[in-house]
Amino acid sequence: MHELGVVMEVVKAVEEFAAENGLTEIESLTLEIGELSSMVPRYVEACFPAAAEGTLLEGSRLIIETVRGNGRCRGCGKIFHVLSNEGRCPFCGEERPEALGGLEFNIKAIEAR
Ligand SMILES: [Zn+2]
Repeated sequence: MHELGVVMEVVKAVEEFAAENGLTEIESLTLEIGELSSMVPRYVEACFPAAAEGTLLEGSRLIIETVRGNGRCRGCGKIFHVLSNEGRCPFCGEERPEALGGLEFNIKAIEAR
């Protein structure tokens, strides 16, 4: 589980943003996580309190929005939902599609209190 290190980086980035913008309290932080990114939303949620402890984000609400991961088949060119097909094209059986979305990991919104 590599999420803790990444979430700590996110917390640091939010603190820098808050300092630059004169924010002293954060109500909520919204992260956008793609289904095909290496970040697992439930692990991110689990390690957020530890990463936020003693920072501006302690006690802030964490909101995670997942982004659907679609892929384009390299064989037949059709587009399909990667996870529900286990990465295999449902039309021709080709594996390893080109990801068209779902690799996101972004800070989407920071809401000040
Ligand atoms: Zn195909």
